[in-house]
Amino acid sequence: MTATDISRRNGSRYGGQRIVVLGAGYAGLSAALRLAPHHRVVLVAPGGDFTERVRLHELAAGGRESVGHPLSRLLAGTGVRHVPARATALDTATREVTTDGGDVLGYDRLVYALGSRTRTPGGASGDERFHTPETAAALRERLRGGPGALTVVGGGLTGIETAAEIAQRHPDWRVRLVTAGELGGGLSGPGRAHVRAVLTALGVSVAEGRHLSSAAEVDADAVVWAASMVPNTQLAADAGLAVEEDTGRLSVDAALRSVTHPEILVAGDAAAGLRMSCATAMPTGVRAAETVLAEARGAQPRPLRFRYLLQCVSLGREDGLIQFVRRDDSPRERIVTGRRAAWIKEQVVRSTVGQLRFAARRPGLARRVLTFG
Ligand SMILES: Cc1cc2nc3c(=O)[nH]c(=O)nc-3n(C[C@H](O)[C@H](O)[C@H](O)COP(=O)(O)OP(=O)(O)OC[C@H]3O[C@@H](n4cnc5c(N)ncnc54)[C@H](O)[C@@H]3O)c2cc1C
Repeated sequence: MTATDISRRNGSRYGGQRIVVLGAGYAGLSAALRLAPHHRVVLVAPGGDFTERVRLHELAAGGRESVGHPLSRLLAGTGVRHVPARATALDTATREVTTDGGDVLGYDRLVYALGSRTRTPGGASGDERFHTPETAAALRERLRGGPGALTVVGGGLTGIETAAEIAQRHPDWRVRLVTAGELGGGLSGPGRAHVRAVLTALGVSVAEGRHLSSAAEVDADAVVWAASMVPNTQLAADAGLAVEEDTGRLSVDAALRSVTHPEILVAGDAAAGLRMSCATAMPTGVRAAETVLAEARGAQPRPLRFRYLLQCVSLGREDGLIQFVRRDDSPRERIVTGRRAAWIKEQVVRSTVGQLRFAARRPGLARRVLTFG
């Protein structure tokens, strides 16, 4: 049965389809809010909060006690039903999702937005020194427990932000950043120079060209592994959805449908194509929802169009880097630095939650509001 058939069967203007959205991150929430006025939306995600993942380094450093926003408040009045559970199985033949709470949820269309997590190296489990951005709350307690030596592994933007934040808030800790490649390898020359200067001023020592493959290789009292991200796509892979071999992300067409299971939309870090980021998660969440809406009307869905503009990096609370990029995300020479950059970054981060709140109150404007993050 096609989406249009389902729409006719239900006799509602937009179809009243059963939509299950997996994941209440930037992508899943954007999709759920856009779909809610038109379809019956069930949002599956563990816990009661939307986690503002882009602030996890602030939580780790102790600048914030929480980065959670209650879903009950965000979703109030939207019609989205939240199932506080983890999806454990997906059956594409019967179109059902099973959760660890024992629910079996049938769907007409599924939005898969389970995001990503830090790729953990060998030797990590059982090592109490080991942390990732996902264990930010435990790291915060460790840092409060007394000074020592801390090593951040990873010279990309997450590693840089984490090292700077912790060094600024905990001058009693000796912070070192170790990276296999170059520090801030995706930034322009001036951008890299600024990051290096700020980290040096904050007392962070940087070791480049050093590849670590295990936590045991790190001589430190605490280790924060932020070397690379892995998409949460195992559930989909087990269900037979096509996975991009080199990235582990789900293969999608231009309208964000799984290439093997077009009834399933994929958004955010789980979807192949764009750089993993909050900035791309929200527009892909909305575009996935637009595909569902278009097909329910019997219309041709529009392809995702995304243009990169900026990369925003926090360097503690008083400095930052705004790196202008080309359409394809490659860096331009132009940067903004210092307090101005820190301020811009803070406004961008605030605006993501602001956009989600606004879309919940004014669902008709969700498409226009949620397309930049
Ligand atoms: C410290 C840090 C700083 C960052 N800074 C930036 C930045 O400045 N700018 C930027 O653009 N990006 C940044 N990122 C990256 C950004 O956070 C991610 O790319 C973004 O969160 C991806 O959004 P998403 O919706 O795809 O997934 P997520 O935000 O990861 O959300 C995934 C959701 O799925 C849920 N979930 C997972 N498994 C299951 C399951 N089995 N069942 C049900 N639900 C499940 C999770 O609980 C969560 O609700 C940063 C990341 C980190 C760690």
